Formats: sequence, structure tokens, C-alpha cells
Amino acid sequence: MFKAPVSRVLVYHVLDDRSVHLFEENIIYLLRKGYRFVTAREFGRLLTVKSLTANMRICAITFDDGFKSVYTKALPILKKYRIPATVFINLDLHRLHDNPKGTELMAEKIFPRLYKRHKDLIGLSKQEIVDLIDNGIEIGGHTITHPDLGRTTNYFLELAGPVQFFSSAFNYHIKTFAYPYGRKHNYTDEVIQELRDCGYEYAFLGISADPQYSLWDKPYELPRTSVPDGFRGGKFHSLLAGSQDLLDRLLNQER
Ligand SMILES: [Zn+2]
Repeated sequence: MFKAPVSRVLVYHVLDDRSVHLFEENIIYLLRKGYRFVTAREFGRLLTVKSLTANMRICAITFDDGFKSVYTKALPILKKYRIPATVFINLDLHRLHDNPKGTELMAEKIFPRLYKRHKDLIGLSKQEIVDLIDNGIEIGGHTITHPDLGRTTNYFLELAGPVQFFSSAFNYHIKTFAYPYGRKHNYTDEVIQELRDCGYEYAFLGISADPQYSLWDKPYELPRTSVPDGFRGGKFHSLLAGSQDLLDRLLNQER
């Protein structure tokens, strides 16, 4: 069986009326297990200075893409339990927030699986992002158009764009990044170098690994654990303890 739960960066995408309860259950479970919550940047810092020890339980809650439910569903719960989180915002999704038709077209193309389950996908507005920042939520970069960075040649714009945008529109300096699609083939060494040059300090994958024993020396390849819809109780426990790590290892070996 799997060992005890360890420190994790968890990934969520969209919360709806049903999954918001499971999200709250996850938070209660983590609190009961003694997890301390930090932002993605703080997690990266703890990990890379090697101050994360095996018996510490640190958790960073992250949301990818920046859908409106981070504000409408997640924020009230994060405030209720006074825990920080991080949102990796896709710029195009934010820019289309008052254009439902445009968002629909984008969602169909870029987030087909999410779009199948959630027809009302929409990005965060400017005021909602301001409120998130005011409530201690960290904002991270997630490119402009959500490309596969392992295959695109104009990655400079995709990485520098969010840094410039948040600096000029929000006076906010983003320091963390999440790779779209997040697997090993979705970035290159050149992309990592560019992230560093743009001022990002840490970058996160979408694949899972026990961060205490691997990858701690790679600030631009930090693992995260995806929480699928409907994960609760014992299933959530095994996810924290490493069930997803094995799965991700198998999937990554296949290539
Ligand atoms: Zn994404």
C-alpha cells in the first residue's frame, strides 16, 4: 500500500456546485492531517532550499487557467479557512472574460474536456483578479494563448507577455509559472532558460512526484498532483500518498 501523505502542490481547474463541496472536504481533510498551506512561490522556496523535511506536511493549492469559479466558488472557502492559494492565469482567457462567445470558441479548442463538463466556462475579470490579490492569492503565469511550449517557436512572447501585462495592468510582479499541459514533452531547456530570463523563480509541471525525494533541485520542474473531480476520503488520501505518482511515472515512461 501507499505510504503516509506527503507535501504536495495540488492542481484544480473548475469548481461547480457539486465539486465545491468536495473541494471543501479536501481542505478539511488536509487541515485535519496537519498540513500547512502556502503559496506556490513559498512552496518552491521551501523545496529548493531543502528545508522541506520528510515529516513536514506542506500544501499549495493551485488553480490552472483562471476560470471565474476560482473567485465565485473557491475564494469564499479559502477565506473561511484562511488559507492562501495560487492561480496560474491564461491571459487570453482573462481578456475574453466579457466575451462569452469568444470564450466558448476558445474553451472548445483549448479545454475540450473541461468544456464538455462545464458549458459556462469564463475567465476572471480585472476586478476579480484585484480582489484575489487583495485576499492574499498569488497570481502566476500560464502563457497568453495556452500553447504546447515544447512545440512552439515564439515562446519568448508567451512567457514575457504575462510578466509585462500583470506589471502594467495590476502593478503585480509574477514569479511563478505553470506549463500548459504540464508534461515533460511540453517544454524544453530553452523554455526554462527563457523563464529564468523573464524573472520567473519557479515553474510547475502537471505531473506528480513525491517532491521530498525527487526534483527538489529543479526549481523550473516542480511536480504537482492533479485532483480529479470526485476525489474524496480514502481516494484523496491515496492521491496524497502517491497513487498518482505511479500513474504519472508510467505515462511518462511510455514516450
Ligand atoms: Zn492550462
